[in-house]
Amino acid sequence: MKIFETIDQLREELRKYKSGQTLGFVPTMGYLHQGHLSLVEQSKKENDVTVVSIFVNPAQFGPAEDFDSYPREAERDEHLLRKLAVDVVFYPAVKEIYPEGYATYVEVEKLGNVLCGKSRPTHFRGVTTVVLKLLNIVSPTCAYFGRKDAQQAIIIKKMAKDLNLDVVIQAMPIVRDPDGLALSSRNVYLSPEEREAALSLSRALKKAKTEIEQGLRDASAIKEFIQKEISKYPLVTIDYIEVVTLDALDKTNTITLDNTLVAGAIWVGKTRLIDNFTLGEI
Ligand code: AMP
Repeated sequence: MKIFETIDQLREELRKYKSGQTLGFVPTMGYLHQGHLSLVEQSKKENDVTVVSIFVNPAQFGPAEDFDSYPREAERDEHLLRKLAVDVVFYPAVKEIYPEGYATYVEVEKLGNVLCGKSRPTHFRGVTTVVLKLLNIVSPTCAYFGRKDAQQAIIIKKMAKDLNLDVVIQAMPIVRDPDGLALSSRNVYLSPEEREAALSLSRALKKAKTEIEQGLRDASAIKEFIQKEISKYPLVTIDYIEVVTLDALDKTNTITLDNTLVAGAIWVGKTRLIDNFTLGEI
């Protein structure tokens, strides 16, 4: 496994692979867990070469958010990626990606302003900017994202389509702990009591999915159901619970089985966590 910190060195290495080999790319912010590793495993299965980037992207954090305290553990990440026989790791410093005077940002209109975009107004602009930069740097055949961040995957797919990027964007299933909590690097912030409260979201979503399977189609009834379930946990504050279409993220009154995203974000103490389920393909 080779690790590169500069774009020039990474590009020089990747030039060796370009002739007829497929290249899979997994962008991450590090502090890796099985959710990230499932993307790496999929890339390994489907491609000749797998590149993983580790970069905590300042552009996607708001001024009052956790950029400084975001967990970082390079050696542990390196060890996990070595075990999976990843070919190349890109581990740039902030200055390498955003040198002095950096001025260009990418914005996907509308899709970035709803759900998480409402409470994190500059977040998706930061995400699309860094992902486009990384896709330009790595030039992968295929790039892998998790459905845990369903809105992010939808926005990146839209960016790739609108900007005619020559890459296949894959949205992979959510990986959970055995009790249902969606894996997240931010779970490390939770005290044992908070972790128990954090389960409220996945539990409520699971029950809501069962309600839909049993025939409930009224979006506001599902929203209320989820809100009520979560309100049983006093440590939790709801940021949002929404039922939207999967393709356009438009609010909808009626749940369809092939085009619905049920998504939520909660605060447990100082930690903001998200989860969702989808009906249909991203
Ligand atoms: P992050 O390091 O949080 O930026 O995540 C990097 C990639 O891993 C993103 O595409 C995430 O959607 C994905 N990811 C994070 N957590 C999970 C999870 N629990 N299951 C599946 N994918 C995930």
